[in-house]
Amino acid sequence: MTSLATGASRASAAPTPLTLEQRPETVPPNSAAADLLGTDLAGLREIACSATPSDVDRALGASRLDLRDFAALLSAPAAARLEDLATAAHRLTVQRFGRTVRLFAPLYLSSECVSTCTYCGFSADNPITRRTLEPREARAEAEELAGRGFRHLLLVAGEHARIVNRDYLVACVEAIAPVVDELSIEVQVWDTDMYRRLLAAGCDGLVVYQETYNRTTYADVHLKGKKRNYDWRIAAPDRGGEAGMRRLGIGALLGLHDDWRAEAIALATHAAALTRRWWRSEISVALPRLRPAAGGFEPADPVRDDQLVQLLCALRLTLPDVGITLSTREPSELRDALVPLGVTTLSAGSSTEPGGYTTPDRSDPQFEVSDHRSPAEVAMALRTAGYDPVWKDWQRS
Ligand code: SF4
Repeated sequence: MTSLATGASRASAAPTPLTLEQRPETVPPNSAAADLLGTDLAGLREIACSATPSDVDRALGASRLDLRDFAALLSAPAAARLEDLATAAHRLTVQRFGRTVRLFAPLYLSSECVSTCTYCGFSADNPITRRTLEPREARAEAEELAGRGFRHLLLVAGEHARIVNRDYLVACVEAIAPVVDELSIEVQVWDTDMYRRLLAAGCDGLVVYQETYNRTTYADVHLKGKKRNYDWRIAAPDRGGEAGMRRLGIGALLGLHDDWRAEAIALATHAAALTRRWWRSEISVALPRLRPAAGGFEPADPVRDDQLVQLLCALRLTLPDVGITLSTREPSELRDALVPLGVTTLSAGSSTEPGGYTTPDRSDPQFEVSDHRSPAEVAMALRTAGYDPVWKDWQRS
């Protein structure tokens, strides 16, 4: 590691030390990432291609499904049995989670980013208005969200080693932790020591989307920046687990790679591996579909609604205890329809710009949301459907 002196950040007038890190280009042994990379994903993808109706029958009848069953449930014969998948997924969800859905809100800290990712509104090349909240401004956002009912927040920021640095993130967590019962973070990936610092400051959960599990597509869409290191990123949930994070969330941006079944297989394999390796942590997966973003980005390979339903049901049936998160990227009617099939966590009333809850329209959002309902309206829709909205299910001691 090398320390360099830099100028003042936009978040603070004081000079901020910049640390350059040597990041390994391989994943550590005995990690969920190594388990994932050691799995015959191509073989599983072949099953998704060649599964017969009787393979689907067998998967639907199994008391405990494995990844081969999961692949069969992604097949064309399984698509023809979508009603059966939905019925089984609903039954299992109610059995494992009851009729409850956790609600959370994203809190954007900074839209500064030095990386170039083709699909993201914060991409360094996009000429957008950027903003970084001071920790006291971030706390004001958290207080506003707490006033709207939220007890679980997800802190989000772009990747900027000088502005969104370690001390800044720890200061934000320390400022916000007293306001809510649970805090998770979705920012650039860090080493285990930094995750320990965040945990000690009051951060309970780590969210890292691999974006795409396909290495070629990954290289094609991550043009510049530290995020180009696929292996460092894919092992980040392991580092979070090692640090003791209570919740570990992963996801793939559906529509980035042109083969959604291959992405689904990698995502499920990764979740299963994390569940085995880090059994003390709650594992969750997210199924975000790409949305238009600043810079004129339009998703090239959109995943259809029926394909999303098939994937959601297959995940629930194969990984019955894994949480499934659905964001406001999806429209309200679809979100309401997907809840009974396995969704356990919803964001609500989301803003994707820093300061968007208390001082909106001073910067550009990361992407456009589809569900514009308020948190109260989302909670009411859940109650009307017979579900309890859960604002809090954890108390930090
Ligand atoms: S995806 Fe993350 S790293 Fe890439 S441009 Fe957006 S904020 Fe930056």
